[in-house]
Amino acid sequence: MQQLRIPGPTPCPPEVLKAIGRQMINHRGKEFAEIIRDITPKLKEMFQTKNDIFLLTGSGTGGMEAAVVNTLSPGDKVLATSCGFFGDRFAEIGEVYGAEVKRLNFEWGKPVDPDAVRQALKADSGIKAVLVTHNETSTGVTNDLKSISAIANEFDKLVLVDAISGLGSIDLPVDAWQCDVVVTASQKGWMVPPGLAMVSVSEKAWQAHAKAKMPRYYWDFTSAKNYLEKGQTPTTPAVSVFFGLAVALDMMLAEGLQNIFARHAKLAGLARNGAKSMGLTLVPEERYASNTITAIRASDKLNVAKLLQLLENEHGVVLAGGQGSLSGKIFRIGHLGWIGEKDIKQVLDAITKVIPQASS
Ligand SMILES: *Cc1c(COP(=O)(O)O)cnc(C)c1O
Repeated sequence: MQQLRIPGPTPCPPEVLKAIGRQMINHRGKEFAEIIRDITPKLKEMFQTKNDIFLLTGSGTGGMEAAVVNTLSPGDKVLATSCGFFGDRFAEIGEVYGAEVKRLNFEWGKPVDPDAVRQALKADSGIKAVLVTHNETSTGVTNDLKSISAIANEFDKLVLVDAISGLGSIDLPVDAWQCDVVVTASQKGWMVPPGLAMVSVSEKAWQAHAKAKMPRYYWDFTSAKNYLEKGQTPTTPAVSVFFGLAVALDMMLAEGLQNIFARHAKLAGLARNGAKSMGLTLVPEERYASNTITAIRASDKLNVAKLLQLLENEHGVVLAGGQGSLSGKIFRIGHLGWIGEKDIKQVLDAITKVIPQASS
């Protein structure tokens, strides 16, 4: 069997695969209503929130777009923090919809500096919202969202969070950290196929929503809320992914949030130590390194394309390369969702074996 160790889609447990293979049901019927009413409170537990949660059919980026268009108006000033590929994407979405985006960029591999966020908010009182990436998948960095959000709240800003590759795997107590819109996606740590973005919406986000004038149709939160009251979604949902998510959430809640976070921390530790013991260096400083994805710098002699090809062809191990400016320079091991120690060991063994062949 292939070891799919990219940061999403991630492998699904057999119970989930069985569930998603079910026959279709009427998405306007009683059974679907029961499923969405079962899933939604369970997601609230996972998000550690009392806020509204919507299941939007689309990929994670759709959820990011929903966060922006539902809370902002063209011309609104937004502070877009970015330390990688996905932080840049969030900023671009704001720009496309006409926000006045002030970019606060950090070197790829470094985290967003909360003090710099404070300075930026101090310098411009007109800023309405702060965009933050919880876990920057492109560089394997987890940002100090707790501090960043606390600062943004001190200045009474909206906090819009891309937690796509972190939530459900790394602790993110949405209410305790006062995050207004938080986005994740089914194919990351949730052990289900791609197809659903999940977003939480705070009271403050609803207040912003009431005045927000960015154009929206498919992603409209008011529409999502009205339909959810009927146990439905505004348009045809990814029904099969709902089937899978119902099963996956039960598995996750049975394991327990703290146990899930601890497992990811442990696996990440194994991945980082494994890479270091091969003489490789991590992309971020270890204290900022993500528990869901390990980004590893290739030495000058190591050909990343060849490494990935050999891993896949000879060992059935599928890893990710670098994105954007890091393409060809790094490779990444995804360790989120349905994964255990044995899997990490297999991946590390395979890397150890192919490195000599992939080096010049
Ligand atoms: C995967 C990912 C995205 C993009 O999600 P899609 O589902 O591909 O749209 C955005 N941000 C982060 C941090 C991600 O890991």
